[in-house]
Amino acid sequence: MNVRVGHGFDAHQLAAGRPFILGGVTIPHETGPLGHSDADVLAHAISDALLGAAALGDLGGHFPDSDPQWKGADSMRLLAAVHELLARHGWSIGNIDATIVVQKPKLAPFIDDMRQRLADVLELDFAAVSVKAKTSEGMGYTGDGSGIAAYAVALIDRSRLTDSRRS
Ligand SMILES: [Zn+2]
Repeated sequence: MNVRVGHGFDAHQLAAGRPFILGGVTIPHETGPLGHSDADVLAHAISDALLGAAALGDLGGHFPDSDPQWKGADSMRLLAAVHELLARHGWSIGNIDATIVVQKPKLAPFIDDMRQRLADVLELDFAAVSVKAKTSEGMGYTGDGSGIAAYAVALIDRSRLTDSRRS
């Protein structure tokens, strides 16, 4: 067994007139996360969890804010690139568990769509991708409508590579 765990965190301000995209799913709302890319806070937290598990740096290092080619970028494509990078290093993904923290909008109707989009990009079973939504009970930036945060953990596995090297 050769498994590792990684943790990711991301947060963005919410601003009027921005698209609200989480896990590649567009959610109707009057504000949306502000950022250089599409500011998909869930995709960003999961990307950092995966990179962290493999000790391959972080999303900002691979796709810098300062680089105009990532302006407005589809973060699910960045997540796919992270998945490819891990695969090149021999890592396959075991499972993902993520929590989004925001007061509004209510995310429950969109959770399974997010899980399916993420599972498709990461080539995982639906059951291996968990997404949960929480409020912070009105407290802090995630409670007053000024921001959104996401946390994620990822398990990755290199047993197959290790086994094939042994044989
Ligand atoms: Zn972000």
